[in-house]
Amino acid sequence: VEPIIKVNGLRTSFRTDDGVIPVVNSIDFHVNPGEVLGIVGESGCGKSVTSLSIMGLVSSPTGKVEGEILFKGENIANASEAKMRKIRGNDIAMIFQEPMTSLNPVFTIGDQLVETLRIHKKWSKKQARLRAVDMLKLVGLGRAEELINEYPHQLSGGMRQRVMIAMAMICEPKLLIADEPTTALDVTIQAQILELMKNLNKETDTAIMMITHDLGVVAQMCERVIVMYAGKVIEEGNVQTIFQNPKHPYTVGLLQSIPDMRIKKERLYSIPGNVPKPGTSNLGCQFAPRCSHAMEQCVNETPSLLDFGDGQQVRCWLYEDGKGAAMHESNIG
Ligand code: SF4
Ligand code: MG
Repeated sequence: VEPIIKVNGLRTSFRTDDGVIPVVNSIDFHVNPGEVLGIVGESGCGKSVTSLSIMGLVSSPTGKVEGEILFKGENIANASEAKMRKIRGNDIAMIFQEPMTSLNPVFTIGDQLVETLRIHKKWSKKQARLRAVDMLKLVGLGRAEELINEYPHQLSGGMRQRVMIAMAMICEPKLLIADEPTTALDVTIQAQILELMKNLNKETDTAIMMITHDLGVVAQMCERVIVMYAGKVIEEGNVQTIFQNPKHPYTVGLLQSIPDMRIKKERLYSIPGNVPKPGTSNLGCQFAPRCSHAMEQCVNETPSLLDFGDGQQVRCWLYEDGKGAAMHESNIG
């Protein structure tokens, strides 16, 4: 199968007073038709900038996108704004953590849904309105006929996120990029929204790129996952493999910090230290200052992605000479 999106050597940097700072530092990945790919990492690892790069929302001249972003085989990195406006919302749609920032407060829900269809599909108002009502029902919103005349502020957070999903899905995009779509919601609503997205993915052929800091969300939603740290992919694999046999110490740390209702932990583990500020240093493994396995080599030499077969790839010096197994057993189980 040809991927919907194939990213080759994507590097996104920003010009600041301190010079040009790479936030995404040469990453490769792809999303297959209909699949749900997770992109996981703490905030500040470059996940959101990756998605903004795909959407053509990194603004020049401060921001610069290098490398290839192939959408159905065509490179859309640095495509014209006119071209991206056609793609955005139509072929590739995006939803964010806070729907209020993407919903226009002065227009009704219906107007906003109808507008999207009129721009991209050139539908008549009447036709678009009927489709808008259907779409609101599809995302589980009752009394859709009334809702269509209401304003964003009249809805709850969970309802607004459903409206956002309706808006994102209304043109039947090939790819939906969801950036922390449930982070601002309470746990019950969060589970419902994830369930809804999973169902929509099954019922339509829309692939989803699920950006999250939470491996629990990945477990619930995704087939494949890439783990990002400091602008790089540090581990990639099938979700089952990554959960059963995580190899990178950062992935292991993320897994240990998933809230688990079944095990009453004294205190939730969190990885000590912080994500390095972009541009701090490009030498060695960026995780070294936080890694309990760090060796001298880790500080001076940059590890490359090693292929473990079955789609699992890991960027860590521990595995260059087969020490990996011991590390894994001392950490898990
Ligand atoms: Fe830790 Fe070294 Fe592996 Fe980086 S390369 S994760 S510092 S062991
Ligand atoms: Mg983010």
